[in-house]
Amino acid sequence: MPGPAQQSSTRPAAPDTARPSDPSATAGASGPVASPAATGPAGSPAAADPADAAAACGNDVDTADVIVVGAGPAGSTAAYHLARTGLDVLLLEKSAFPREKVCGDGLTPRAVRQLIDLGIDVSESAGWLHNRGLRIVAGGRRVELDWPELSAFPGFGLVRRRADFDELLARRATAAGARLVERANVASPLLDERTGRIIGVTARLGEDRRPVAYRAPLVVAADGNSTRLSLAMKRYRRTDRAMGVAYRTYFTTPRHEDRYLEAWLDLRDPNDPARRLLPGYGWVFGMGDGTANVGLGVVDTGAVSGEVDWKNLLRRWCEDLPADYGYHPEGVTEPIRGSALPMGLNRQPHYADGLLLIGDAGGTVSPATGEGIAYAMESGRYAAETIVQALARRTDRGRDLALRAYPQALRAAYDGYFALGRLTVAALSRPRLIGAAGAAGLGNPAVLRAAFRLVVNLTEPNSRDALDRLLHVLGRLAPSSRG
Ligand SMILES: Cc1cc2nc3c(=O)[nH]c(=O)nc-3n(C[C@H](O)[C@H](O)[C@H](O)COP(=O)(O)OP(=O)(O)OC[C@H]3O[C@@H](n4cnc5c(N)ncnc54)[C@H](O)[C@@H]3O)c2cc1C
Repeated sequence: MPGPAQQSSTRPAAPDTARPSDPSATAGASGPVASPAATGPAGSPAAADPADAAAACGNDVDTADVIVVGAGPAGSTAAYHLARTGLDVLLLEKSAFPREKVCGDGLTPRAVRQLIDLGIDVSESAGWLHNRGLRIVAGGRRVELDWPELSAFPGFGLVRRRADFDELLARRATAAGARLVERANVASPLLDERTGRIIGVTARLGEDRRPVAYRAPLVVAADGNSTRLSLAMKRYRRTDRAMGVAYRTYFTTPRHEDRYLEAWLDLRDPNDPARRLLPGYGWVFGMGDGTANVGLGVVDTGAVSGEVDWKNLLRRWCEDLPADYGYHPEGVTEPIRGSALPMGLNRQPHYADGLLLIGDAGGTVSPATGEGIAYAMESGRYAAETIVQALARRTDRGRDLALRAYPQALRAAYDGYFALGRLTVAALSRPRLIGAAGAAGLGNPAVLRAAFRLVVNLTEPNSRDALDRLLHVLGRLAPSSRG
């Protein structure tokens, strides 16, 4: 539904590669927040690229209430919850479904809850492989820890390939009324010259990369780890937060229907003469289709040498798996691929100047586990709920106040848990400490179960159970992730 041509005057938006080394540079982006009303049709859009600017002032302009950039789990979840309330939502995705996304494909009960909220049938008859919990392998021992059955979360997890999974979520968003535009590669923000607010985006559309523009009073960056849009809006990564890295592949295995996600804690670089423990784990997740997803994830605590050859490390690690896993190089079905894991809310502010950051774009991966899908979906939902409230306000001030609730919701939900995750990671860089704690914990089932629930963030919020109460207090006492 192309909208009317918009008046334009060009002013370069920030180059998307700029990144000052000083993390405090992010402060400049969190200045006073202008209201959506201040960016109405009268606002003059500005774009970096002359071709984009041409699109911005030409006829190829579409308008909506909200633009969501990126149809991964975060973007599709946000688009679904927005569209369900009747808002006009444009969901812009640079690729076309089905498309691959490098991932471990493991879903905890937190993610399952979000899927159920999207109205997705998560039964086994609908093609999902259910799992009962996590098997930890460390120091030659194996312990199986079942997911707890809680009021807020089901007692099972899932696995599903991302090509299939992400398309399913995007189709739920369109079924709810969102307008998905595939092959729309967002190039840069359109800025209101007067206020500096984002009032839309320019994109290259289709195979011929036709320049187009989309306008809306609010834009959601859900474009993943690389988040070009956030960079163009000067939302830089905080360098005082840990970053993770993860690589994965698939191999054929008789263990493909394993009912436990499996994590191996003894991860070492074979090229390190000291054979130090790496702060991370290797995983084997049976996919139920004859293969397992196998990978490794490590948090960069500064203790890890920048020269680790992750692909080689994964290959060597696979070769050391026990014989009954059936690993051999000819059974590998996909190339080894990996990427960074943006953790601990490492890109801020999560709302300013008309732009909200969700999922990997906002650094929502758990520093404790590397789990990202559940938090991407949860942040998408928080953002959608905030936007719905904001757009219903009658004054600029009211809208502004309502939008501030989004970063507050993220902090309330994750500050304690992510801070605990950072402490866990710090401990992981001290192998002796983790070795002693691990040896004690693996020998004591109650301690291990409590530690497990804390690390995977599955506790009962309003329980009378002493363990749940203790876990909540610990979460609240953990140092804040602000600052
Ligand atoms: C090897 C590996 C294993 C992992 N394993 C797990 C796991 O087992 N479980 C788990 O929970 N998490 C896992 N994660 C983390 C998880 O993959 C991410 O946290 C999750 O995908 C984040 O979702 P998202 O929607 O924020 O971003 P993404 O899934 O990255 O989606 C971003 C979307 O934006 C689109 N996009 C990007 N740029 C543009 C643009 N310019 N214009 C338009 N569209 C654009 C992309 O095409 C993509 O569709 C793993 C990560 C890695 C690297």
